[in-house]
Amino acid sequence: MSDIKIEELLKQVNQELNQLFETVNTLSEEVTRLTNENNRLRMQQYQAVEQMELNSLKDKEDQDSQTISQPEQTLKNRQSGQARLQTFYNDGIHICHHYFGSKRETNEECIFCQDIIDSLGEQ
Ligand SMILES: [Zn+2]
Repeated sequence: MSDIKIEELLKQVNQELNQLFETVNTLSEEVTRLTNENNRLRMQQYQAVEQMELNSLKDKEDQDSQTISQPEQTLKNRQSGQARLQTFYNDGIHICHHYFGSKRETNEECIFCQDIIDSLGEQ
């Protein structure tokens, strides 16, 4: 094989590697985007289910006066909301407004997320 042929081959392989690198980058960005979107949808789904359960409880309460009192129910809902957010946070997902739904890189601590969890616990 002549030197010129080898040089041409090297050039070609180099170009193909660059293209491959670009494709991997694009795929990687897309995975991040889809993961964040999935996280946001999961959280919204939880919120929707919780709201539905709350509504059906209210309906039940209207029909049945024997159910637990309003303050107890409110406390229960707040605790479940806090537990739900804590679960997402523990899974490595931001629950704060700044980065809502995005992944916490290498499980970094986030003071905004922690603020939200703390404020729910104090009320
Ligand atoms: Zn956060």
